[in-house]
Amino acid sequence: MPFAKLGLSGPLVQAITELGYKTPTPIQEQAIPVILSGKDLIATAQTGTGKTAAFVLPLLEKFSNAGTLRGKRIRALILVPTRELAVQVEASAAQYAKHMHLTSMAVYGGVDTEAQKERLIEGVDILVATPGRLLDLAHQRALHFDELQVLVLDEADRMVDMGFVDDINKIIERLPENRQNLLFSATMSGDVRALAYGFSDSKMTDLAADISISPNIRAAANIKQWLITVDKDNKSALLSHLINEQEWDQALIFTEKKHNAAKLVAQLEKRGIKADSIHGGRSQAMRENVLAQFKSGELKYLVATGVAARGLDIGELSRVVNYDLPFQPEEYIHRIGRTGRAGASGEAISLVDMSDFKNLCAIERRLNTIIERKEIAGFPARKEVPASNLNHVKNNR
Ligand code: AMP
Repeated sequence: MPFAKLGLSGPLVQAITELGYKTPTPIQEQAIPVILSGKDLIATAQTGTGKTAAFVLPLLEKFSNAGTLRGKRIRALILVPTRELAVQVEASAAQYAKHMHLTSMAVYGGVDTEAQKERLIEGVDILVATPGRLLDLAHQRALHFDELQVLVLDEADRMVDMGFVDDINKIIERLPENRQNLLFSATMSGDVRALAYGFSDSKMTDLAADISISPNIRAAANIKQWLITVDKDNKSALLSHLINEQEWDQALIFTEKKHNAAKLVAQLEKRGIKADSIHGGRSQAMRENVLAQFKSGELKYLVATGVAARGLDIGELSRVVNYDLPFQPEEYIHRIGRTGRAGASGEAISLVDMSDFKNLCAIERRLNTIIERKEIAGFPARKEVPASNLNHVKNNR
């Protein structure tokens, strides 16, 4: 189905055609008409499904004939969990609006407020924000919500996990009641539903369309997953070996903790492999700089913690490595979703030591698949990782 059939007009279709989008993804096919109709929407969709365009395109279409915006006013507010995602969603909005006279801007913490306040003076059609900074700016009367028409909560599950529920509710209290609400989440836990129903003062209840692109989220079939069992103290040597022997062109490597990310970069560099890291302990400017280097290909190996890398669109990424396994199976699915995007193929490799075993079982149970194990000569695991069992019950840790 062509994009124009979904109700998008010339300038938008032109912009997305220039970006190489040929047909809408399933979430776009389902969400765009609902959003254009003015209904509220609760959608289950992972990053990598094209969900950003699924809400940004119809917002731009809705605002295409809007009148002038007053100063410090916004028409749509998109709340996101991380600074990186704010930057990325805004960049997509700017690309899609290329042939229109609509404006967009990202506001997030960790940088000076003054420039953001100044930019808001003229008003912005689409504002992408992290919750804390948005509240700050609202307290300082740098923006007003009386012309707001649409609220979007993107990656709502992650915002819940990161403890943003109170901030989000404080923001909602300030918004006009008569607005459209859109909620996107990779998973639909009770907490996320509660957040959605917290909107019900306005209308996000029976009237809301509820669509689900991956009801039981599964890893995309085009991602080849495999793992290697290895001793913890041998992981960095194994990773260096794989990078060199298999001549990896590129890899995004996940660690659970930020100090592990920094340590791994040092270990790789000791073996002559140039790597860098993004994690919560680095400044915003530094994270953006490192990410830009990775995206341009100048940096081939990027080590990241899950939170820092959340939602990043790194383009055609061929390989993701789980240096350790996350506690939450959903986090694993998010991580490996950085590769194999929009139909491209990719591989996801996990380095699994004995202490990862419980997490491995939880992940495999969630995927309902036993991940293929491979052996790499020269790296036998002294502490053997037991065979996987889909019925393994994870004890409380
Ligand atoms: P998202 O799920 O929003 O993070 O998008 C994942 C990637 O898919 C981004 O690089 C988008 O630019 C790309 N994308 C979104 N929609 C389409 C489409 N209809 N055709 C091709 N690529 C798309």
